[in-house]
Amino acid sequence: MEEPAIKKNTENSQEVGAEYFCLDLIPDPFIILHQDGRILDVNESCSLLLGSVKDELIGKTFEDFREFTRLREKAEQAVREKKEAVERVTLNNRNFEVSVLPFESDRKTCLLRITFKDITNFLRLELELLKRNKELIIINSLSSAFISSDNIDLAMEELMDKVFLITDFHTGWLLLKEDDSFLLQISRGISPELQQGIETGVLASLCAETIEIGAPLHFVESSDISKISLLRDEGIIFLVIIPLISENKHIGLLFLASRVGRDFDFDFASLLTLVGNHVSHIIDKIRMFQETRRLSITDSLTGLHNTRYFYRTLDLEIARTDRYGTPFSLMLFDIDNFKQLNDTHGHQAGDEVLQELAKILKAVSRETDTVVRYGGEEFIIILPNTPEEETVHLSDRIRRAVQENIFFLNNSEKIKITLSGGIASYPKNARDAKNLLNAADTALYAAKAAGKNVVLCYEGFNW
Ligand code: GH3
Ligand code: MG
Ligand code: MG
Repeated sequence: MEEPAIKKNTENSQEVGAEYFCLDLIPDPFIILHQDGRILDVNESCSLLLGSVKDELIGKTFEDFREFTRLREKAEQAVREKKEAVERVTLNNRNFEVSVLPFESDRKTCLLRITFKDITNFLRLELELLKRNKELIIINSLSSAFISSDNIDLAMEELMDKVFLITDFHTGWLLLKEDDSFLLQISRGISPELQQGIETGVLASLCAETIEIGAPLHFVESSDISKISLLRDEGIIFLVIIPLISENKHIGLLFLASRVGRDFDFDFASLLTLVGNHVSHIIDKIRMFQETRRLSITDSLTGLHNTRYFYRTLDLEIARTDRYGTPFSLMLFDIDNFKQLNDTHGHQAGDEVLQELAKILKAVSRETDTVVRYGGEEFIIILPNTPEEETVHLSDRIRRAVQENIFFLNNSEKIKITLSGGIASYPKNARDAKNLLNAADTALYAAKAAGKNVVLCYEGFNW
């Protein structure tokens, strides 16, 4: 094995009066510098780094190396402050953290020890981490749009705001796919003319082209933008379209536009792709959340509201009446002789009748009414801001509409049904939800007892 290159320094060590082992033992590039800036000694790896043999380097100063000009200041600072100064430099495409440490030689001369620590890999890692961190911030920031709102429109608005914030755009619009076309969901920073144009399908061919290309991003050339007069008149010169995809299907298109030029490099494209991915994901989640919520308050057979929703709405109506004093009413309906219908035509036919009846109730009631499947063949309608007299009128309309309707069953049979109903009003007939329901139920019971196919009010009976 070769002897390690340990030797005593010669001329230069003479000058500083030091006896020290060869610097070549130190793996990182290393320089001993005189206070006046002259190189006194370097190690092997420093020679390699600077591309000169040791003898050529000794005696040179910082001024001889263009890359070191910034180090001169650090050396002066280190001498002045008598402590280590650190600087980052780039040499031969590698990054170094350079430490400049003043020390005294045996002859009380101030020398400087300069070490180069290669931090290229560290910086690459740091950059990678920063990028990841940025991605996480984007994901978090976008996701919070969904968490903070259970209203689909509000959530979409918030999502769009965050997209603009992250991408630094101020103009854009979001189209969501409904059936076979893309419908405008939200727009920002565009004129009513362009908005109307988008709504009437001016961009349909551009949308189709984006889908056809099938890329994660469609950067529209400015010459192509100017071919669409509405975009040209709007002053848009930069346009990128991000297809939103969920389960391999296009669910929407996000347009980001600018009236000033923008650089479109690889990093920006990856940022937009990342945003597109997450926006698709979040839209999916918002829709799923909406659907779950809808199902949780919906009766699966008829599509009407279920009792869970009913009790919540009833409480809200009571609170509203207590506050504003406007009365509301309940109509409780029960199909007459429904058991017999089931027995004669089968349970399936009974289900079809319930579904058809639900449609009639929805159609005849008002937009503000809440139509509920209360139980098997019982239905309740909450009528906000409606006193008893008006409710009687409406309930009779419903009763007659049902009586006159012909129910076509799947097996091509035709049948007719009738309803009995009970009406109770708040606060006239009860002071709380439970008693109000009891009142409606009592009125319904009276209607059945009176021969069915009739609606009676709780009021007017001497119960
Ligand atoms: P009344 O005129 O006194 O109300 O008599 P009715 O036969 O309508 O009342 P009853 O309470 O005796 O019977 C209600 C029937 O409704 C019994 C049950 O089988 C039927 N029913 C309840 N839920 C459903 C359903 O979801 N589908 C079908 N097909 N039938 C149902
Ligand atoms: Mg019943
Ligand atoms: Mg019944």
